[in-house]
Parts: sequence; structure tokens; C-alpha cells
Amino acid sequence: MKGIVYKSTGSWYTVKSDKGVFYECRIKGKFRMEGIKSTNPVAVGDHVHFKVETKGDETIGVIHKIEERDNYIIRKSVNLSKQTHIIAANVDVAFLLVTLNNPPTFTSFIDRFLVTAEAYHIKAVLLFNKIDTYTEDELLEVKYLAAMYRDIGYECIGISAATGKNVEKVKALMKDKVSMFSGHSGVGKSTLVNAIEPSLNLKTSEISEQHKQGQHTTTFAEMFDLSFNAKIIDTPGIKGFGVVEIEKEELGDYFPEFFELKEHCKFNNCLHLEEPKCAVKEALENDELPWSRYKSYLQIMEGEEEHFRKDIYNK
Ligand code: GDP
Ligand code: ZN
Repeated sequence: MKGIVYKSTGSWYTVKSDKGVFYECRIKGKFRMEGIKSTNPVAVGDHVHFKVETKGDETIGVIHKIEERDNYIIRKSVNLSKQTHIIAANVDVAFLLVTLNNPPTFTSFIDRFLVTAEAYHIKAVLLFNKIDTYTEDELLEVKYLAAMYRDIGYECIGISAATGKNVEKVKALMKDKVSMFSGHSGVGKSTLVNAIEPSLNLKTSEISEQHKQGQHTTTFAEMFDLSFNAKIIDTPGIKGFGVVEIEKEELGDYFPEFFELKEHCKFNNCLHLEEPKCAVKEALENDELPWSRYKSYLQIMEGEEEHFRKDIYNK
């Protein structure tokens, strides 16, 4: 049988068969997905093949195959073991909720999210929430930001989860797809999900509050079917994506606005830092590229530099 993993608790996986029946499944033996070493070989969103076994009055499924993933997002544990955990697989759209204040979302955070989405090959959409609360000036700022990100190619929608403004537009993007919602605690993720599907009550904010209090909670992602043929993956306590390791040389590949420019850099391995005749820097000087994006580029690059130095130091 074939199905999709809706929930995992580490050793058990809840799989919905393509006939719409849920099965509690285990994994066959030491079976592992090739390529990535992770604490969980099977993740929420995985398309799996399984066999149903009946022992007495107990029916369980045994997963024996995972279909190739379109993408997957990971989280590295912060403790020494640095183990990789696959949070979710086959995500079609990653929505980032952004608010100007209460709480503020800085462009550096947005850009990190977008870079990670690019690295994961997941379509990212920016939702500027709480537009019902903004002053004229703040609305102008939202317009400015949305125009900037639209220019780069990202879809942006101004919404109000509280009043329902433009929530239908969000739903239209979710139809027939698997979506995830991210953003700082307090940006309105739960409110939006409630506006989208009132009967669904996700744990998103509740658990992230616990995180803030420093409690150690292991959380698992879970997938839900919505009434309008959409799927949502709830990732309690995860405000962004896990950190992907990005090589310095590839970071520029995750800034789509650099694509056409970098062909005109003097050096084909140009990192757009101090190199002469860099087309990216020239475009910046001519105000053809937003400085905030370049600033984020530098910040992420420096972050990577730090990792890089630590690696050398540790050796
Ligand atoms: P989460 O932590 O991202 O899940 O955020 P919540 O959904 O819990 O929202 C945090 C607070 O912001 C709550 O008091 C919500 O009522 C409020 N809120 C969320 N969206 C909106 C909105 O569009 N407009 C207004 N005025 N308040 C909102
Ligand atoms: Zn360059």
C-alpha cells in the first residue's frame, strides 16, 4: 500500500493510505534512507510504501520504502551530538508571517528564511500580517517591503488574520498543496490558521511559549487535512527553518536577484565582497539592488565564516 506520513513519534508513524485510512506503522528493521544520516529515517510528509500485518486483533503497518523526496527540512540538535532530525518532507509552500511591530520582524530574519527556502528548494511566500493595525506610514513601509520582495520574485500578500482580509488569497495558494507557516511568536500564526480552518487548533504558539521558558520539550511535526483540499504541516516550536549549512561559494545562488548580475562579475568565483569589477556591488552602488538584502548577504556570509573558523579551530 502507499500512503503519506502524517505524524511521527520517533518509533511510530501514522500513515494515511491513498484510500484515506490511517495506519500506525513501524519501520522495517534497520531500513534507512540513503544520503542523509538523520535520527529519523522517515518524516512527516514522506510518501511511503507499507504492508499491513495483523497479529490477533492488532493491525500494524510496516514501512518498507520511501519515495524520493522533492525536498526536506532539517534541524540540527544543539547539543554536542549535532544529530540531524528531518522535520518534514515534500513541503510545497513555506509561508512566512511578517509583522512590522508586536513583534518586529527584521529584514535579516526574512532574508535568512528566504535563503533557507531557496537552499531547500521550497517556494516561499511572505504574508505581511496585522495590516489592520498599521498607521499610514507603516502601511507605506509594508508596501515598500512587499514591492522589494516582489521584484526579486517572491509572492507577498498583506493580510489581517484578525479581520480575515486577504485570507482567501492565502487559501488559494494552499489549495492542492502542502503548506507550512513560520514566523516569530506573536505574528499571528495560530490566528491565521484559525481563520483558514476554524475547527483546527494547532499547537504552534503554545509550545513556542514553553520553549521561551527554557523547558526542554521534544516536539514533532504533524500534518493535517484541511476542508478545501489543502494540507498543512504544523511544526510546534519552530519559528523559522532549521539551519542549513551553506558554503560561502553557494550563498549567492540563494539570492535570486544576483543571478543575472553575477555572470558579469570579473571573476566567475566572485563572492561579491572586495573583488574588483563586481557586478553585484556595481548594481548596489547604482541603487539597482536593495542594500538591506546585501547586508543580509554579508551577515549570513560572516556567520558562515564563523562556522568555517570554528571548524579549523576544532581541528
Ligand atoms: P502566534 O504566536 O504566531 O501563533 O500568534 P497568535 O496567533 O497567537 O497572535 C498573537 C496576537 O496577535 C494575538 O493576540 C492575536 O489576536 C493577535 N493578532 C494576530 N493576527 C492579528 C491581526 O491580523 N490583527 C490584529 N489586530 N491582531 C492580530
Ligand atoms: Zn561579484
